[in-house]
Amino acid sequence: METPKNPTSINHRIREGLSRLAMAMRADDWNRAKTSGLNPTQLAILELLEGRKDGLGVKEIAANLGVAQPTATDSIAALERKGLVEKQSAATDKRGVTVGINSEGLSMLEAGRSQPSIAEQTVGALADREQEDLLITLVKMIRHLQENDAIPIQRMCASCRYFAPFAHSDAAQPHHCNFVDAAFGQRDIRIDCREHEPADPASRAATWDAFQQG
Ligand code: SF4
Repeated sequence: METPKNPTSINHRIREGLSRLAMAMRADDWNRAKTSGLNPTQLAILELLEGRKDGLGVKEIAANLGVAQPTATDSIAALERKGLVEKQSAATDKRGVTVGINSEGLSMLEAGRSQPSIAEQTVGALADREQEDLLITLVKMIRHLQENDAIPIQRMCASCRYFAPFAHSDAAQPHHCNFVDAAFGQRDIRIDCREHEPADPASRAATWDAFQQG
């Protein structure tokens, strides 16, 4: 137990802080899901499938959400019954059957975004520089998790084959996205970009070194 004379380690206190934020975000998720007649897992599946035109297999959905496959299967079946996702078979795809969001599912996501969530309001209360620092810290933490196989590769710039960090001398827009062939700034770094294509492990490591050193 923490006392004024004996603080716990900073790692432990940061974990406690993150857990308080996670609690507020879970409440956010329940409220948003309830408004749409879903539960948080079903809502998370819709958000995961958004922008993935080839859909995802059940195994990938379960891995991305950190839930067991039977849980993912049940939630997908519920979403199918509600007419928000569709199964699609891809003969050329090793996954066989994938699940994709349809236009009704996309409309439901859109409708649920009219109000900023508690988490977004909280981030909005930070100064610009604090937001940028937080974004980069989150990228570092997510990368650490994915490089240690704790979570799947996320659609972040840091793991994208189109990302050229610090390719420009302009301090406001130092990075380059080769997909759109345009410069962008540190606060525009993406966490979940639909145009992301994973770089191979060697390029990913080199890109990360360049990003860190910039
Ligand atoms: S395609 Fe998306 S993830 Fe890739 S570098 Fe461009 S903005 Fe970043």
